[in-house]
Amino acid sequence: MAFQMPPRVERLTAYAPHEGDYTLRLDANESAFPLGERLERVLARAVSGADLRRYPDPRAEELCRAAADFFGVKADQVAAGCGSDELIMLLINAFAGGVGPVLVSEPDFSMYRFYSEIFDIRCVSMNKAGTAADMDGLIQAAREQKAAVVIFSNPCNPTGGGVPKAEVLRLIRSTDALVIVDEAYMDFWNESILDEVAAFDNAIVLKTCSKAIGLAGVRVGFAIGQKSLVDAVKKVKSPYNVSTLSQAAATALLREKDELLRRRAALVAGTRMLEAGLKALAARFPQWLTAWDTCANFVYCPSPRAKALWDGLRKQGILVRHMGGALRICTGTEEENRRVLTALEKLLEEMA
Ligand SMILES: *Cc1c(COP(=O)(O)O)cnc(C)c1O
Repeated sequence: MAFQMPPRVERLTAYAPHEGDYTLRLDANESAFPLGERLERVLARAVSGADLRRYPDPRAEELCRAAADFFGVKADQVAAGCGSDELIMLLINAFAGGVGPVLVSEPDFSMYRFYSEIFDIRCVSMNKAGTAADMDGLIQAAREQKAAVVIFSNPCNPTGGGVPKAEVLRLIRSTDALVIVDEAYMDFWNESILDEVAAFDNAIVLKTCSKAIGLAGVRVGFAIGQKSLVDAVKKVKSPYNVSTLSQAAATALLREKDELLRRRAALVAGTRMLEAGLKALAARFPQWLTAWDTCANFVYCPSPRAKALWDGLRKQGILVRHMGGALRICTGTEEENRRVLTALEKLLEEMA
């Protein structure tokens, strides 16, 4: 007798962060702005005095109420998770496991495929038509494949493309599958289906505190939808999935809506600057760089020399995301954007 590691586990590699000293990190689509003095005080007040002998509130009631107010939905339409990552895992496992395949539109957030595969659920992939998910293709494939779950990010990570609200609603109405719309970047665009999601018994919107809200380290995300679906999430999650400290921190920050909206506006302005700068470089060096339009806080830049550009930036202490034949660069502050644009310009000039 000998223990056999299941092959699907054996072939995985653990998620590894980038080692090294970077003076500028634009690789993970996090917020460019530190919280600042006032929000830090709000945060400190929120977590001080927490009774950490006790388990957290399994329903995360205050947090869900704060999120509901922030997003303009009802509190019983919100379930909280340890990042939207955990919710993706739970939803795929609960709604597709033993039921049917998960349908994705690639390239997209790699976690959809990852979680399907670790649960031994078939993941059927459609290619994107251009930068965004193709709704007609998904509708047809969902029917043909008898998909249990259709999941995609909107706006899309990594392409930055977006699907208009009416199109997403058309998909939801045209399928029996559970449609999970991952709106991690919808804070930077304006086509959310949040105000209509409660009307459907087959749609869930995912939101996160990790991007526009600037709390990636706190690990809080939300599943929002009709009460029946949200209750199902609460049934399948582990009871204490969001720590007391995370609940307190995210609750306090979500109540600072005006400040969060100001910070978000600054991130949108930063993205426009980065996008314009990258497009100007792409116009000067069309053989080496393309810059796609973006609805998110990052810009996707296909390049036949993506690896060389990525290495060149890294040598200067700047980390962006390298994905095959492209770079994905998220917005920093104005000064940080200038720095990455100047560094890229030099590298491109050397190539020309
Ligand atoms: C960053 C990101 C998330 C957020 O994940 P968290 O676990 O909430 O930090 C979710 N979906 C997409 C597409 C993302 O890019």
